[in-house]
This record gives sequence, structure tokens and C-alpha cells, in this order.
Amino acid sequence: MVLRPSERFEKMENPAAREIFKMLDLPGVISFAGGFPSNDSLPAREMEMLAGEILARDGTGVLQYGPVAGYGPLLENISAWLQKSKKITAAPAEVLITSGSQQALDLIGKLCLEEGDLVAVEEPTYLTALQTFNSYRVRFLPIPCDGEGMQVDVLEKSLAACRPKFVYTVATFQNPTGVSLGVDRRERLLRLAEEHGFHLIEDNAYGDLCYEGEEPPALKSLDRKGRVVYLGSFSKIISPGLRVGYMVADRETRAKAAVVKQVLDVHTSNLSQRIVCEFLSRGCLEPHLENIRAGYLRKRDAMLEALKRHLPRQAEWTRPRGGFFIWVRLPGAFDSGKALPEAILRGMAFVPGKAFFTRDGGQNSLRLSFSGSTPEQIHRGIEILGGLIRDYGW
Ligand code: PMP
Repeated sequence: MVLRPSERFEKMENPAAREIFKMLDLPGVISFAGGFPSNDSLPAREMEMLAGEILARDGTGVLQYGPVAGYGPLLENISAWLQKSKKITAAPAEVLITSGSQQALDLIGKLCLEEGDLVAVEEPTYLTALQTFNSYRVRFLPIPCDGEGMQVDVLEKSLAACRPKFVYTVATFQNPTGVSLGVDRRERLLRLAEEHGFHLIEDNAYGDLCYEGEEPPALKSLDRKGRVVYLGSFSKIISPGLRVGYMVADRETRAKAAVVKQVLDVHTSNLSQRIVCEFLSRGCLEPHLENIRAGYLRKRDAMLEALKRHLPRQAEWTRPRGGFFIWVRLPGAFDSGKALPEAILRGMAFVPGKAFFTRDGGQNSLRLSFSGSTPEQIHRGIEILGGLIRDYGW
């Protein structure tokens, strides 16, 4: 007898998320669907060596339960890394290790969301964040985006009539559009948070993957009044399989979040935490980042070039300076949801734009991830997409 799912579950379900994972394994299909790091960026050899050394040195410490908030030396390393790479000042006691930043989103939901709360989000936004917040039965305040990210003036106008509990933003190299919030808009958003008394949840999963120009300043680095809860992750820059992410907040919020963390899963895997810790302690992250950025830049350029060559003139797409994603908008009647099955039959896959919207919208858009394919696959996959669009007269 099947357990009857709750209303919370019904709200959480999003078929698009399931489809993304399915599309990864389709034989013979070039998939631009998943926001996954490329297999050749995963440092398997180093991990094998570190895991062996860590277990040999302190097997009991690894295999026993550990502290809820995280492994002490890792908290210190993250604090130092944030200072160095993001100019974010955060004491180790303000950092909480989470099992990926995905868990931090849920943890925030459990910590502070009540049914009916208003959550402002960029539109389009990270679809799993929508699923997570939806499971707390919130209402969304979708804020449209343009080439400089969230239109903060639209948010400002809405604030005359309502106050969100928080604004969730992937301000840098956004998922799904690849665009970044302009610096002036960052300042304005922070001032609004101060003036209107809401928080910002800054999800910075892609900030370290900057391929061109300067990495935009993290909102947290500009935050003088403690309005920003910052989420970081090692998934895109070391390995998503290790499941190590973190949340940075004031001490009191962090202590409360630790209570939720303990209820959720006691603590994040000791072995994973120590592997990441050693990787940072030994100074491996910076050379590794340089290496993988160079690979992703080649892929991004390959995709931009292929789009120019194969897509019709009326198509528009973003030109991300970092991260994994390009957002494509096609003219008029194009329906990316209807086009996907045919695209898969022809040998390529993407995520239809609708999945990233709170309600309607995005039908003529799609998200392409260049991270997981080779430049040759990228050229071939985009050629297939271009052919499909032409054949259907879209
Ligand atoms: N936030 C964003 C914007 C993401 O794109 C992702 C991964 N797709 C995550 C959070 C979750 O990543 P993880 O839980 O692996 O850290």
C-alpha cells in the first residue's frame, strides 16, 4: 500500500528536475541539461590519495560521529578562503557545514519559513530552490531579470505593497541565465534589505568560476548590517559527490541553523569534510581552479561560437562571464517544452525554460549547460538544435 503523500510533497514535485537526471544517462544524446561539473574536472587521483592518508592518520576520528556544525579545521579554512577569495569576513563560528548548498536551502526553509510567507526570487531562477521553498508552502514574488540580473527597481516598487521574508538570489553567474547582478544593483538591493527589514539569501555556487574580467563582489562582502546569509559549495569546484557546502550567517542564526542541521542529518560526512579540508590546507584549490576555469572557458567559447553559427538570426542568448549556463530565447511561437522530445530523438537535450519560472513564462526559452560536454560535442549538439528550429519553422 503506497504511502499517501502530503500536500508539502505535491508542492515539491517538479517533473523537470526528474527529467534532468534522466537525460544524463540517455545513450547517444549530447546533454546540455544538467548543471554538472565536467567529469575531467573531478580530481579523482588527489581524492584517492587524500582519503587514504586521512583514514590512515585518524580512522577513528573519521568513522565516529563528528561535530554538528562541521569539522573545526575546515571551518577555519573556509573562513580564510572567504577572506582571501571574496573579501568576506566570517569567523569560523559563523560558518556551518551543510551537505551541499542544497541542504542549506532546506535548512533555511525549516528555520524561518511559515506557510504563506512571501519569498522574492529572480525570475527565472534555480529550479530546485523553487521546489525547496515551495515545500514550505510559501508565496513567491517573482522579480524579472535582464542582462544585469534582477531588476531591483521592480522589487523596490513591489515593496510599497508587501514585504518578503527574504530575497533569494543567485547574483553571480546565475543558474539558469548565466548573467550577474550589476554592482550598483547589488548596493541598491542591500540598501533595500536594510530599509525594509528583509534578508538576502545569496547562493554563490558559481562565483569561483569566473572566466573573463573580474569576479563580481559577493553581496556578503558589501553587507555592513548583517542582512545577507551566504551559501557556498564545493560541488562545482571540487566534487558534487562529496556533498560539502556551507552557510555563513551571524552567530545566533548559525547556532539555530545547527539545531536544524542536527535534526536533518546530524552532520555532514566526516570523510568528505576532511578531504575538502586537506585540499584547501595543501593549497590545491587555487591551481585546480585555474586549471578547470581554462577548460570551461574553452567550452563556453565553443558554445557561443556554435550558437552564432547554427541558430537563426532572431534567436537571442546570454554571454556569461562565468558559471555553466547560457540562456537562449527564441522568437514567437517556439515552445521549448514541445521541442524537447524531438531534440532528444535527434540526439541533444536541454532544459525547457518554463521549469525556472514560478508560474507561467519561459516557454520560448531554454537553458543550455556547456560544462559537461567537449567542444566537439557542443558544436554537434548546437547544430542539431539549429536544424530542429529551422525544420519546424520556429
Ligand atoms: N545552488 C545553485 C544555484 C545550484 O545551481 C546548485 C546545483 N545545481 C546548488 C545550489 C546545489 O548544489 P550542491 O547542493 O551540490 O552544493
